[in-house]
Amino acid sequence: DAIIALIGRLVGNGSAYAAEGHVLFDTQACEDYGVLSGHPMDEMIAGARVEVAPYKRHPADFVLWKPSKPGEPVWQSPFGPGRPGWHIECTAMIEQSLGLPIDIHGGGIDLLFPHHENERAQGACAHGHGRDRTYARYWMHNGFLTFGEEKMAKSLGNVALVKDLVKVAPGEALRWALLVGHYRAPLEWTGELIAQSVKALDRLYGALRRAAGVEAADTGPDPAFLAALEDDLNTPAAMAELFGLATALETATGPGRAEAKGRLLASARLMGFLFGDPEAWFQGGVDEALKARIDDLVARRSQARAAKDWAAADKIRDELAALNVEVMDSASGATWRLKERT
Ligand SMILES: [Zn+2]
Repeated sequence: DAIIALIGRLVGNGSAYAAEGHVLFDTQACEDYGVLSGHPMDEMIAGARVEVAPYKRHPADFVLWKPSKPGEPVWQSPFGPGRPGWHIECTAMIEQSLGLPIDIHGGGIDLLFPHHENERAQGACAHGHGRDRTYARYWMHNGFLTFGEEKMAKSLGNVALVKDLVKVAPGEALRWALLVGHYRAPLEWTGELIAQSVKALDRLYGALRRAAGVEAADTGPDPAFLAALEDDLNTPAAMAELFGLATALETATGPGRAEAKGRLLASARLMGFLFGDPEAWFQGGVDEALKARIDDLVARRSQARAAKDWAAADKIRDELAALNVEVMDSASGATWRLKERT
């Protein structure tokens, strides 16, 4: 019903016309058609899936309603029995469910033309001329996630699922990997990308671990970090600021340390990072079998020390060092953690 009402409005105000059982959007009647993708009309027609048909006044005109082929779903309408075109469904749903204008419209870069161009034109023209025709205040088109040369897509069968990836890498590192490139740019998904993301978080958690005794001040996020995010969601620039904040924490002295820790935490957490305990982070890459082996070595080392068998204790400590494990002795017993990966 919402689609039929919207098409009726477009026909009624001269933005669409009926021809041979079809209803077509009249791109020539839309004063700012093409404004979203920013391409001249000829270029768009040459480069995209534009169907030339005898019932179209202009090749760029697109279908709002068309007769159903045998076997396709069919609905009754004032324009004859048929079904909606591809683009009109989104405009009708957005208008009905969210109301116009909407704040942010997202989508893959491949949808910019013709789909979003047409969606926007319909939404704007349905409201006539000479009033606010804003359909979406911001359009955010994301680049493809690629595997090698191909885009990652269900239809291509080259999909990596988060539920599988979290078995081999911390979820926080996967989040880092996905945000480390600008959203408009393509991102190549590789094992190297994940490894680098783990290292990047090692760097930040390492700084927090060294400042474990510092109470973070309630500073809010860093202004330079926020400015990067406010500049078209520039996540790579924002993440580069996080490293600067980690260095600032390490070089700060006195009350400045609490401020520096507060800024690092508030900034990183705004992007979903550094919610974890630094000690837990450095144990996170350890599988259960290795964990059991380390726990066993640590327990045997404690027994050797209790028996004042220093030679045995030192030998076990060397074994642990070879596993990149650092043991910390305290009054309440020994604990361990992995050293930072270098
Ligand atoms: Zn859509």
